[in-house]
Parts: sequence; C-alpha cells; structure tokens
Amino acid sequence: MATECSPEIRAAILERLHEIQTRMESACQSAGRNAQEVTLMAVTKTVPPEQVNVVVEAGVTLLGENRVQEFLSKRDDYDKRAEVQFIGHLQTNKVKQIVGAVTLIHSVDSLHLLQEIQKTANKQEIVQDILLEVNIGGETSKSGAAPAEMQMLLQSAMECPNVKVRGLMTIPPPFAEQSEAEECFGRMQTLWQDLRRTSPSLDILSMGMSGDYETAIRYGATLIRLGSALFGARIYPPKTL
Ligand SMILES: *Cc1c(COP(=O)(O)O)cnc(C)c1O
Repeated sequence: MATECSPEIRAAILERLHEIQTRMESACQSAGRNAQEVTLMAVTKTVPPEQVNVVVEAGVTLLGENRVQEFLSKRDDYDKRAEVQFIGHLQTNKVKQIVGAVTLIHSVDSLHLLQEIQKTANKQEIVQDILLEVNIGGETSKSGAAPAEMQMLLQSAMECPNVKVRGLMTIPPPFAEQSEAEECFGRMQTLWQDLRRTSPSLDILSMGMSGDYETAIRYGATLIRLGSALFGARIYPPKTL
C-alpha cells in the first residue's frame, strides 16, 4: 500500500490544481473554445504515488509517465481510477513493457519504433493507440520526427493493423520569447489540421507544459501535460555512482 499524503502537501497540490483549472478555463474562453475540448494530464515523473493520487481523487484521472522503470514500480500504487499514458522517449527494447499497459503512447518518432509496436501489439492481439511525435523546433538533439516525415509515418501506420494513430505530440524547445512559443504551436496546429483533412481520426493534439499551456490552448491543444505546475518543482533523486 502507498503511504498517505500529508495534509499540507495535499492542500498545496489541490490549490495548484484549482489555479490551473481556472487558467485553463479562461484560456479556453478567450480562444472561443469549449473547456471540455482540453484534457489535463498529470505528469508524474519523480512524484510519489500518494501525491499523484491526490489529483486522481480530485478528478484528474489521466497520468503521463516518462520512464518505463518508474512506471512499472509505481503503477500498482495508483488509484484504480487512473488511466496511464506513456510520454517519454521509448527505446525499442522496452516496447514490450509498454504496449498494452498504457492507453496511448505519445512518443512514436520513427518507422523502426512503429514497426516494433505493431509486432508487439499483434502478438498481444490488441490495437495500440499512438501519437506521432513531431520535432517542431528542428533541434538536432531532440526526440521527434521532422514535420516533413509525418506523411510517410502516417502512411506506414496505415499498413499496421495493430496500431492506430490518434494524433500528434510535441515538446518544443525552451522558449526565450513568447512569440517563439506561438510560432511553434501555430506550426503544430497547421500540420495537425492538414493531416486531419485526409486522416480525420487524428483527434488528439498533445502540446503545452507548465510554462506554456495557455498558449498551447490558444493554438488548438486538446491535451496538455503538466508536471511542476501541479506537483511543484521536481526533486530528482541523487545519481547513484
Ligand atoms: C516532464 C514532462 C512534461 C511536464 O513538464 P512540466 O514543465 O513540469 O509541466 C510534459 N511532457 C513531457 C514529455 C515531459 O517529459
């Protein structure tokens, strides 16, 4: 059993959640969007399960996991109402531990990974929902495929009967200026809308984190992924040497 969350920490999380929900609502309102169109995901990396469960009990049942090992060690302690999705970089040798264990994999950025997911989902006789991850900032070190590769990846996914592409995801570069955020999110929105003309089942646009979610909402995000705005600054365990 997971330990209980202290009343102080619980109150702090609920207060942050309340502020986020208020800001989400006004961002939707000023964008002329219905608040129901945007789903809040709680990103759980480094956060102990008893703190994660505070937001699940408050109705934020969608959780985002980055690391396979951390996910496997924490999932049994999550409130049973939680739905878990995978948002981290996925190595092909870990695909077996994730396919079928999460409802959506946000980070598919190569043909190789796509085919590995297809193979594993086929063995399990399931259809795995995925998002294609776009490297919208064009950074060389970043994960995600180039916007120009999306059509090819979509085409390849159509030949994978055990994989269903539900939309796009991005982690934009850290912004120096608000206008850069708008440019990146704007390009994502255009790309998503273009692809939807031929693939209407792409109903998810996963973008926006703690520092930029209101901007992402203005540019059409349907799923925002918040960690530190919800749980406070992350405390990483010391590296074991
Ligand atoms: C950590 C992480 C987030 C949340 O980041 P915050 O800035 O803490 O909100 C969102 N998406 C991905 C893929 C992440 O790794």
